[in-house]
Amino acid sequence: MHQDVAEILISEEEIRAKVKELGQQISRDYAGQELLLVGILRGAMLFMSDLMREIDIPVNIDFMVVSSYGAGTTTSGEVRVLKDLDRGIEGRNVLLIEDIVDTGLTLNYLTKYLANRHPKSLKVCTLLNKPSRRRIEVPVDYNGFIIPDKFVVGYGLDYNEFYRNLPYIGVLKPEIYQV
Ligand code: 5GP
Ligand code: MG
Ligand code: MG
Repeated sequence: MHQDVAEILISEEEIRAKVKELGQQISRDYAGQELLLVGILRGAMLFMSDLMREIDIPVNIDFMVVSSYGAGTTTSGEVRVLKDLDRGIEGRNVLLIEDIVDTGLTLNYLTKYLANRHPKSLKVCTLLNKPSRRRIEVPVDYNGFIIPDKFVVGYGLDYNEFYRNLPYIGVLKPEIYQV
């Protein structure tokens, strides 16, 4: 375990099993159709790359980069689109892939932003969900894990852009971000 991590919340094995289950569920739900996976960078990168390999219907992928957080561990509440989709989504099945839904502000902004372009369907898949921190109601269609109100890193999620490469979801030692 990494020296800055206090506790492994979700192990590699648990992530693998959950991602497989989600991929099978998504494949069943969209059977006979095509699906566009929209990954929200950078946090959803590992999740999306593993998830797409568990989906056995025709998929396309695209990415958005948004910023809502500064360097700290709480949201600024303001969402900015730093990179938009490369292609149009009108008439397509879109599945947003998120690393974590926390306050819900990012997702709320993104679903409205994309719904404006008239996709055939728009759903949300998140690896992690912290419902206790929600500030705005947002629908989540596919949920990996419900987690407690702890700041987590690993498997794509960062603190100050580090720890994304940890293969598990871990809780940072408080002394790392309480300075
Ligand atoms: P929301 O807009 O729902 O508050 O936050 C969404 C974004 O905040 C996530 O995509 C993620 O980048 C960041 N975030 C929220 N909670 C955590 C956390 O526990 N750990 C990390 N590393 N990022 C988080
Ligand atoms: Mg995210
Ligand atoms: Mg981050």
